[in-house]
Amino acid sequence: MKKIENAEIKNITTYKLKGSIKKLIIAESIDDLKEIIESLKGQKYKIIGNGSNLIISSSYDGTIIKLKGIDGLIVNGNVIKVGASYNLAKLSRECAKRGLSGLEFACGIPGTVGGAIYMNAGAYGKEMKDITESVIALDENGKRVTLTKDELKFGYRNSIFKTKNYICLQVKLKLKKDKKEDILKRINDIMKERREKQPLEYPSAGSVFRNPENDSAGRIIESLNLKGLKVGGAEVSEKHANFIVNKGDATAEDIIEIIDKIKEKVKEKYNIELMCEQEIIKG
Ligand SMILES: Cc1cc2nc3c(=O)[nH]c(=O)nc-3n(C[C@H](O)[C@H](O)[C@H](O)COP(=O)(O)OP(=O)(O)OC[C@H]3O[C@@H](n4cnc5c(N)ncnc54)[C@H](O)[C@@H]3O)c2cc1C
Repeated sequence: MKKIENAEIKNITTYKLKGSIKKLIIAESIDDLKEIIESLKGQKYKIIGNGSNLIISSSYDGTIIKLKGIDGLIVNGNVIKVGASYNLAKLSRECAKRGLSGLEFACGIPGTVGGAIYMNAGAYGKEMKDITESVIALDENGKRVTLTKDELKFGYRNSIFKTKNYICLQVKLKLKKDKKEDILKRINDIMKERREKQPLEYPSAGSVFRNPENDSAGRIIESLNLKGLKVGGAEVSEKHANFIVNKGDATAEDIIEIIDKIKEKVKEKYNIELMCEQEIIKG
């Protein structure tokens, strides 16, 4: 385990935000994690994976616990067991190499397996729910529990992890056998499309807002000519209106201000309450 005081936020978020947090602990094993949770009982803390869906502010006064090294991979036919801190995009390619299909959708999602389960990450019409069989987690009391697919209560960018203070440790996925070349082609096609449509050249945390029913947040924001809107170092991407990018020294407050402005304008014009997909960690 590593304990870091005044840790730079840019090193733990894909937004690469400016500023620092008071306390960061890196849990490098499940034993580390248990020890850390026990020592922080009754105190404020937040578990993170790769920080690819997070807006972390310097005002956060709890402890950030980053999971790292809980990344074992066991492949048994078309069933895999994978640790929570395994990188999802890497896993997608590792599965492809083994002729296992089902995770192609995740090839461009730069999070961890645990973060993907937490929010039922998805893309191109597929989501974690489609391939997840069960999850081993630590419950609120630090006890190891196994959650079945039903118990995981997956929904649109939602799972039981959003309502219960559980920590995902290991995930069991069921994939399908397919030709390696076909799987790799699907991955390459997805990555090509992502590079064309998304501002991958700048730090971001992916889509900012959830899509309202039967509509697209990007389309709504674009219709209000908000592409290019700037606050400090943050900007609504010119390439994709549902992305905010860090063009320099953006802080969490810059991103939050843009989010508030977009929400206000969308409410005013269309009477729609856009919901943030990214999570703000502050105070
Ligand atoms: C360029 C780009 C493209 C993206 N495209 C997509 C996309 O297509 N689809 C999509 O769904 N998302 C996308 N994202 C968002 C993000 O990558 C995913 O939401 C990802 O699943 C988050 O994983 P993470 O490890 O980074 O989680 P973090 O951002 O670190 O954390 C997110 C939440 O998960 C919780 N969490 C993390 N690990 C655990 C754990 N082990 N146990 C319990 N809770 C945990 C955290 O407490 C937090 O509440 C994109 C992001 C970027 C930067």
